[in-house]
Amino acid sequence: MCLFCKIANNELTANKVHENDDFVAFHDINPKAPVHVLAIPKTHVDSFNEVTPEMMADMTAFIQEVAEKVDVKESGYRVITNVGENGGQEVKHLHFHILGGARLRWGHF
Ligand code: C5P
Repeated sequence: MCLFCKIANNELTANKVHENDDFVAFHDINPKAPVHVLAIPKTHVDSFNEVTPEMMADMTAFIQEVAEKVDVKESGYRVITNVGENGGQEVKHLHFHILGGARLRWGHF
């Protein structure tokens, strides 16, 4: 079972901020912004390449709830999903980074 499946199944602990039957969000262990949360589906999906539009509809609503819960909805935030090698995806279980809490830099390789 992959790392994020274990977090979804409570076999590994994570600092959770939000959860429902289908998704869970938790603080990234190595934060790259003052607020850095990961939102994942509990069902294993390798990456954004494989996610269905139906799952994305619910995922979108969940991410919006997470942004509210961690108090970045009004101040602004960034949603990122890394895909594959060039995208820098390290964990092969779909996850969306929600980053905020400061003015974020943009535009470098
Ligand atoms: O998009 P990418 O696959 O590179 O991101 C994986 C993220 O998962 C990293 O930001 C890393 O810090 C995080 N991580 C985590 N808890 C773990 C392993 C990785 O929050 N146990």
